[in-house]
Amino acid sequence: MAVKIDEEKCTACGACVDTCPVAALKIDGKAKVDPDTCIDCGSCVDECPVEAISL
Ligand code: SF4
Ligand code: SF4
Repeated sequence: MAVKIDEEKCTACGACVDTCPVAALKIDGKAKVDPDTCIDCGSCVDECPVEAISL
């Protein structure tokens, strides 16, 4: 499992990258998740201002 990122909604603000405790997110045009690193903690889901991330 890993979070899903809606690239249509993502504004590449970086808030999710800053909140991820395991550095599973990066900005590469839009936010991208490394599914092997993500621990499904949900922090980025709560942090995204445009609700682009879901678990
Ligand atoms: S759910 Fe948690 S571990 Fe996974 S990308 Fe979001 S903040 Fe990082
Ligand atoms: S917090 Fe949301 S809008 Fe900002 S980079 Fe992450 S997914 Fe994109």
